[in-house]
Amino acid sequence: MLNNLGGLQVDKIDAVCDIILQSKRVVVFTGAGISTESGISDFRSPGGIWDRFDPSELNYQNFLASEAGREKYWDFSRQLWPTMAKAKPNRGHYAIAELYHMGKLDCVITQNIDSLHQKSGVPEEKVIELHGTMKWVNCLECGKKYPREQIQSRVETGEKVPVCDACGGILKPATISFGQPMPEKETREAETRSASCDLFLVAGSSLVVYPAAQMPLIAKDNGARLVIINLTPTPHDGYADIVIYEKTGQVLSEIVEQVKAKLRKGE
Ligand SMILES: [Zn+2]
Repeated sequence: MLNNLGGLQVDKIDAVCDIILQSKRVVVFTGAGISTESGISDFRSPGGIWDRFDPSELNYQNFLASEAGREKYWDFSRQLWPTMAKAKPNRGHYAIAELYHMGKLDCVITQNIDSLHQKSGVPEEKVIELHGTMKWVNCLECGKKYPREQIQSRVETGEKVPVCDACGGILKPATISFGQPMPEKETREAETRSASCDLFLVAGSSLVVYPAAQMPLIAKDNGARLVIINLTPTPHDGYADIVIYEKTGQVLSEIVEQVKAKLRKGE
């Protein structure tokens, strides 16, 4: 049971459970907040790698513009990868995977690039990665795709700016940088899924950047219910059926445990 949440939160959690029980196509939307418990820090909060790099300098334009820009980006990315590679899913990720096993989950739409939903057991085809993934590196010229580990060992052994061995083109992690266009296919797919779900559950996103900010509204306009679990307020709290201001891990695992208990009791 929750021992440090007030009675109001307990009532809200109960209400979310009932909504999940009534829902058939749940879209879970996740952001940085769900991965902090796995040791991956949000670039908006101080600490770790973000004290040594300025995210605004690591934008797409600087990456394309010069060898120096690419060198800086790869220096950052080389240092970030070990944290991503060793990160393990936390109880929040596992709770979402439980929704999949229960047949409730339509898909996860995530702003995260850490593959933790897949690591928690949600199949690859059920995860829409709006900001790409660190798992792959792409050639910007010919499109050749490299496993990250392969390029990581090259940059760790002295290659400051790796290039494509097929065409000599620029290699870039398959993540969406600041200033880089959103991936069309994923964005469209996310919008379609948001429009056809019956519950849109936000976990650990402050819903400030496009297109994240649009998705809950698309869902709501098409008749879905909207539940937001985030530590801090979001611009869409006013549209939500239920808002819970907490870290996602404990709340999500509590919700899913209670859903399972209710199912066992046949409620
Ligand atoms: Zn190439």
